[in-house]
Amino acid sequence: MTEPLRSRDALPAGWYDLSPPICPATAVFPGDAAFSAALAMAFERGDHLRLTTWTTTPHVGAHADAPCHYAADGPGIGERPVARYIGDAQVVSVNTRQGERIAPGDLLRPVLAPRVLLRTDSFADPNQWRDDFCSLSVELVEHLAALGVVLVGLDTPSVDPGPAKTLLAHAAVHRADLAILEGLDLRGVPDGLYTLLAQPLRVQGGDASPVRALLVPRQPGLETGPVLRSPVASALNHG
Ligand SMILES: [Zn+2]
Repeated sequence: MTEPLRSRDALPAGWYDLSPPICPATAVFPGDAAFSAALAMAFERGDHLRLTTWTTTPHVGAHADAPCHYAADGPGIGERPVARYIGDAQVVSVNTRQGERIAPGDLLRPVLAPRVLLRTDSFADPNQWRDDFCSLSVELVEHLAALGVVLVGLDTPSVDPGPAKTLLAHAAVHRADLAILEGLDLRGVPDGLYTLLAQPLRVQGGDASPVRALLVPRQPGLETGPVLRSPVASALNHG
């Protein structure tokens, strides 16, 4: 018996795909429009193409929120700088109780990169809605912004608690002009430094866009974003 050939399409070693599959079963906020694809043309109907029309909230699976989602004067996702979503990133696990907001002291590692993806493990199944996931505290948003962070992402559907109607973390994110990624699948992703590739679509005025979020080994050519103002960060930028 010979070893089976590694598929040419397998994810390269050290890469992580953070985007859960998008399908009608993908959990969305209660009342929001789940993904669906209606057939406009189909081979089985004798058409020469398959063509579908999608209906979906843009807040489905891994996605980037635009400021116009949480601020009346905010720009849409198509107007946001795409470089925010590409470059040095760090996965940081947190020690936060289920349903609580993440405080700065909950981070299990010092922040070293201008993009921080917080692993809460509080929204276990992308297809099973629950609203007791962990979210961001205002103090954490302000702490990250003060360090020079430009993007914060997490493995839950929102930076605010599921039942919240006053979106304190979204408001703090807007004041600090951070980019947000929500709905990431960080299961099995070790804490550490990576290059993030998670470009949103250029939808003018869009309140969000799904992203195909990948972490790959650090790419020196993609050191986009500011150098962090913490002393530890200089090790990253020279190391
Ligand atoms: Zn969202």
